[in-house]
Amino acid sequence: MDRIEQVDGPVHAFLAVDRERAIESARRVDERIAAGEKLGPLAGVPIAVKDLFCYRGMPTTAASRMLEKWVPPYNSTVVQRCLDAGLVVLGKTNLDEFAMGSSTETSAFGPTHNPWDLDRVPGGSGGGSAAALAAHEAPLALGTDTGGSIRQPAAVTGTVGVKPTYGGTSRHGVIAMASSLDQPGPCARTVLDTALLHEVIGGHDPMDQTSIDQPVPATTEAARIGEVRGMRIGVVKELSGEGYQPGVEARFTETVELLTRLGAEVVEVSCPNFEYALPAYYLIQPAEVSSNLARYDAMRYGLRLDDDGDHSAEQVMRATRGAGFGEEAKRRIILGTYALSAGYFDAYYGSAQKIRTLIQRDFAQAWRSCDALVAPTTPTVAFTLGERTDDPMAMYRADLCTIPANMAGVAAGSFPCGLADGLPVGLQVMAPVMADDRVYRVGAAVEHALKESWGHSLLSEVPDPAKEDAR
Ligand code: GLN
Repeated sequence: MDRIEQVDGPVHAFLAVDRERAIESARRVDERIAAGEKLGPLAGVPIAVKDLFCYRGMPTTAASRMLEKWVPPYNSTVVQRCLDAGLVVLGKTNLDEFAMGSSTETSAFGPTHNPWDLDRVPGGSGGGSAAALAAHEAPLALGTDTGGSIRQPAAVTGTVGVKPTYGGTSRHGVIAMASSLDQPGPCARTVLDTALLHEVIGGHDPMDQTSIDQPVPATTEAARIGEVRGMRIGVVKELSGEGYQPGVEARFTETVELLTRLGAEVVEVSCPNFEYALPAYYLIQPAEVSSNLARYDAMRYGLRLDDDGDHSAEQVMRATRGAGFGEEAKRRIILGTYALSAGYFDAYYGSAQKIRTLIQRDFAQAWRSCDALVAPTTPTVAFTLGERTDDPMAMYRADLCTIPANMAGVAAGSFPCGLADGLPVGLQVMAPVMADDRVYRVGAAVEHALKESWGHSLLSEVPDPAKEDAR
């Protein structure tokens, strides 16, 4: 709590801090330990929660004016599982509005700053959670990943983030954005911490129709083993070249060489349909957004404007949706409604769904010769605040490497693999559906070997935002 107070002014990772409840629940854990109770490994550990997860007793805003004062009447399954495991919720972290964006700049409550360089973005949409980790404001955090919102912020802040297999973690009580792609996941500073959190939040939930009824993959064990000897690892040929920062490609190539030295069998793999993942995502994702965001009708919950008796329901709706949604949310609603409209449905939404199938086939083909796939997590390091806000296409390209995994529902994570121009670079590891443990296995091997060669972890190099010279 003191640390948050010290550094969150310049970083702005948190939208709300829940000081009293956090201290109270920590005290309760202490009492249970003193009473000799045997608690789980994360009992008493503080966690920062992306403000997209319903958590009773404080607002869940989705970083939107639309839900600014809305307090949910129930906990999301993922938050409830954290509470049951004795984790201490510190508060809610900033994000792009309704999790649409790659920089947290579409948040209605102002952007988060990257602790590595306060003039740069922490990625998005989960930039608040990632920045909270990098600034040492929290050791654990929750994120959601629809097109890269866990992995891309992890990459540009030098932290770890995993998007579980679609259906591996429950979406119940997570504000819906694009339901066929959204997936909650764990974020932390180390691979083992991320794996421990994964096992707390993962597993079947009857409240989520798409939840997979299978045991959680053994992520903690995989993170402890961290051995890639004998693993077949594929380098995705298409995720390189034009548009990729040379420093990012250099760190990636070195990490692939490292994996070979550690005993992995590395091969090049072609996934020809990955190049269509981004355009197909920007038809499917907005289509689902236009449907999911229709519920903010000013009638049931959230913001309501012009409710003075002189306006019709339609006028109230129009005024509320006009003022309540930011520009990016409106752009997606309009795009999605258009893609779904009669006469265009087959050409846009229909074609995009076919591409989705082709991407799934590319993965299926790759798994015939590989246990896991690797690529850079992002084409560039963190960009400066404001640099891409007027250029949606440039903003969307930040997710070039992360979107294929969402389109196919496979497991994927990002792990720090060095610096380029003084800023963190992420290694992305992808693995088949319900083989999330392999993501951790590769991540842990890289983390261990790099820490040994550097003599310290990457995050020990983050400038302290509390120190004057860091600004
Ligand atoms: N940046 C992507 C988008 O804007 C992905 C967001 C996400 O994963 N939540 O849609």
